[in-house]
Amino acid sequence: MKRIAFFCIPAHGHTNPMLPVAAELVKRGNHVRFYSFNAFEDKIRAAGAEYISCDAYLPELTEQAESGLKKVSSTEMSIQDIRITLSMDSFLDEEFKTFRPDVVFTDSVCFWGKLNAWKHHVPMVVSTSTFAFNQLSSQYMKNSLKEMADLILGLPRVSKELKKLEPCGYHVNGFLSLIQSGNQTDSIVYTSRHFQPFAESFSDHYAFVGPSVFSDAVPDKTKERPLVYISMGTVINDRPDFYSKCIEAFRDQNLDVIISCGNAIDRSALGTLSDNIQVYPYVNQLEILSKADVFITHCGMNSVSESLYMETPMVLYPQTNEQKAVARRAAEIGAGIVLKDDSADGIRSAVLEILNNSAFRKAAKACSKDFRSCSGPAGAAEFIENAPHSSDGIDVVAELNKANGRFQFIYWCTVIAAVTLTRFLIGWKYAWITGVAAGILSNPIGRAVQKRNYASIIRRIR
Ligand code: UDP
Repeated sequence: MKRIAFFCIPAHGHTNPMLPVAAELVKRGNHVRFYSFNAFEDKIRAAGAEYISCDAYLPELTEQAESGLKKVSSTEMSIQDIRITLSMDSFLDEEFKTFRPDVVFTDSVCFWGKLNAWKHHVPMVVSTSTFAFNQLSSQYMKNSLKEMADLILGLPRVSKELKKLEPCGYHVNGFLSLIQSGNQTDSIVYTSRHFQPFAESFSDHYAFVGPSVFSDAVPDKTKERPLVYISMGTVINDRPDFYSKCIEAFRDQNLDVIISCGNAIDRSALGTLSDNIQVYPYVNQLEILSKADVFITHCGMNSVSESLYMETPMVLYPQTNEQKAVARRAAEIGAGIVLKDDSADGIRSAVLEILNNSAFRKAAKACSKDFRSCSGPAGAAEFIENAPHSSDGIDVVAELNKANGRFQFIYWCTVIAAVTLTRFLIGWKYAWITGVAAGILSNPIGRAVQKRNYASIIRRIR
């Protein structure tokens, strides 16, 4: 029997996948103590874990912080995370002394979980509620200019906050070490190796256990007419404009619609609903997905995984970078289409396209089969019980960087030689053209070589 301390930020999308893991660990006779917040108390207790409330340690939000958090600003989220860590410091010192956890299981962006595992020298396993990201898989995530500006301009404020951690005994090796998990960090990822982009580039410290789903529901799509389910998740779901367009799109159509709109929406502001449309602040999403024929989703990792698990193809409407990465992968496997035109007509035709083409349903079904063959919460529990893990495999990303470095060296030496030769043989004008052409071509050629190098490294380690 092990004592396992769970830590998570106050967010459904991060807490939900940890719950079946907690339930499994409890079932196996471990003592799970879950440090969380009152909004999640019932779910945590239902999983059989001991619940410890941390609400008293949530600092008051300034106006700037509140509006930043609503926009999912990385700067504001990081500052908030550091402030919570500081406010929980003495409480957690005492908890680590009395509970003496054998393992810490913490969400990947929950700074106080990670920092306290390091401070108290307790083996740590990280819960990754989205894809695992490294240099390769992050190619799926393109930062917008606004997000880049937020990160860069916010860095001095984050660094100032980080400095406050040192006197409390938290040694942080730069901000990146807090938000990224290296190839040596024991991590649980709630997807399959097939769905995870560049899965082979992650070491054995990563366990891809498949979606962590807490439901007895099984896919059953038999009913009189199609069911469309719509949700923008639980974080940025204050989108009355979008729900209104959906309501207009499906008014009096020969299908049923369920919209989960969150608590912030005044449902009367959405206008009169036709009989085929129902709007709720929160629903049992898994139950509905088991029956739904199409899911219009914001592409949170949990929502997409749950949809695929329940064999439901999707209209993908991502809002953040991370969601765009998930949407791209779901579209790549053929289980959904990205919504390009979010007018009422655009929404309706995207849904009809999914309903009229069985290939989408087939792709979702194949992915569900793949997900169900993963080790699931039992695999996650075993991985946590046996932490820390060792790995003697090769570091794919480091190997790839070496191979790419060699290629860049040879490429640019060749370009210099070619430019010099052209200058002597034909003249400056053509030397310039050669140089510029080589510069333009370096990117696509570099990408093609990287792809070839990656394939060859993967062949070698198999
Ligand atoms: N969820 C739910 N009922 C709802 C809306 C959401 O149970 O009405 C759950 C959903 O099943 C998923 C989580 O909330 O597990 C949302 O997580 P996701 O990663 O999809 O998005 P986020 O809310 O973090 O943006």
